[in-house]
Amino acid sequence: MRTMAAIKGLAHAACLATLVLGSGVARADVHAAPHPAPQAGATAPGALPEPSAAKLAAVSSVDRHAAELAELSDRIWAYAEIALREHKSAAALADFAEKQGFKVQRGVAGMPTAFVATYGQGRPVIGVMGEFDALPGLSQKAVAEKTPLVEGAGGHGCGHNLFGAGSLGAAIAIKEQIAAGKLKGTVIFYGTPAEEDYGGKIYMARDGLFDGADAVLAWHPSDDTQADMVSSQAMVDLAVEFRGRASHAASDPWNGRSAVDALELFTHGVNLMREHIRPTSRMHYTIVAGGDVPNVVAEYAKVWIWLRDWKRSEVEQLLARARLLASGAAEMTETTATVNVQGGSWETLVNETGARLLHANLLWLGPATYTEQEQAFAKEIQRATGVPEVGMATGVKPLEGQVPEGGSTDVGDVSWIAPTLHVSVATSPKGAPWHGWPVVASGGMSIGHKGMVRAAKVLAATMVDLYEQPEALAAVQAEFKAKKGDVKYESYVPPGPPPAPKD
Ligand SMILES: [Zn+2]
Repeated sequence: MRTMAAIKGLAHAACLATLVLGSGVARADVHAAPHPAPQAGATAPGALPEPSAAKLAAVSSVDRHAAELAELSDRIWAYAEIALREHKSAAALADFAEKQGFKVQRGVAGMPTAFVATYGQGRPVIGVMGEFDALPGLSQKAVAEKTPLVEGAGGHGCGHNLFGAGSLGAAIAIKEQIAAGKLKGTVIFYGTPAEEDYGGKIYMARDGLFDGADAVLAWHPSDDTQADMVSSQAMVDLAVEFRGRASHAASDPWNGRSAVDALELFTHGVNLMREHIRPTSRMHYTIVAGGDVPNVVAEYAKVWIWLRDWKRSEVEQLLARARLLASGAAEMTETTATVNVQGGSWETLVNETGARLLHANLLWLGPATYTEQEQAFAKEIQRATGVPEVGMATGVKPLEGQVPEGGSTDVGDVSWIAPTLHVSVATSPKGAPWHGWPVVASGGMSIGHKGMVRAAKVLAATMVDLYEQPEALAAVQAEFKAKKGDVKYESYVPPGPPPAPKD
């Protein structure tokens, strides 16, 4: 998830996921030699419905590809390319999808690193999204202390290397079932770039790439595992610019009109307005330009501000009030103000019916298991970052009682176009800082790989439900339609491609 949009959400592939499958019998996945497919009926007695043959085969497919997926994820981890610069990462995923038999359309929605990989035909059309961008300045080795891999370079502090490879693993598992005639319909893997900046999905949503999908799934790396029942915040991204008149600040200040004065009045207005906004609203800004030298009355000033709330309707009100503040500040200083909406994302429309399907499949798959070394690695990170040394979370959090955290994601935009099912899966030590070195470290070794494999399995199992059970898909869609009502999705981003990436 980004800071703009941040959900949060370990010895390389020597030992991937060891999951417990329903029966309570630990099943170690040895990927050098594919293990026999689990037997139907291996669920906990009386608790969950019997898995279908297609579901068992899809989960088995993830295991079969686990080593390749870990290698793919590690490559993207090492590339650590930031938003809209993810050329090698996007190519690695797209090439892998193509090799597996998907039809790949590259460079969609004006972004060279966005792509769509499709397999099959007809309905239902089920999509799964994968991210792959890194964050600047977070380079880190896969070790339990802060140690940059390449000083000053990017790092996968949000685990998107796992996100992309895991989601593609789920898409491949479904593709194999369609190819084998066990499932009917179409599977789409959406390669969605630049989540941490720009919001690639917003451009893809604007350009209609999610239109026609019957449901879309996504996961996100996290420090715990749950089918998500909580939303993310809607936000709008504004550039507010003031233009005045330069003069000598000592010899003829009366000829000057200061853009910085206007900026100060604007931000003061924002800060006073905090007393009169809903407790759910958030406003944060940074000053981008504020004059160059004290003896010149500043001609130009710019503030970059984000306005958020859990409801887009509230964000719209904040936006209207920010416009008033800007024009008021300009009037008081005899300057001019320009307010540009640069982007923004919608809050996530939670699909509880879908979350229940994901939750049931998480329970069916069982808890994650870690080796003593992995738990020791997690605890070492926790010690280093001053959080309780509890190791990795292994279980599944309940659906009820989830507390939303702040942050926005471009997944929100997709959730207003197609029912969107979202799950968080543990890939990093419980409580360790997100968007920080611990996430990079654990995402580049077996702890991250295990989370990725678990995510691919729960996504694949849930997708199988949607293909095989028309009544389940219909219920997911009915909830989506009821919640969406007559709201028409409109993207916050202007026409054209996103701005060129910053250096
Ligand atoms: Zn993220």
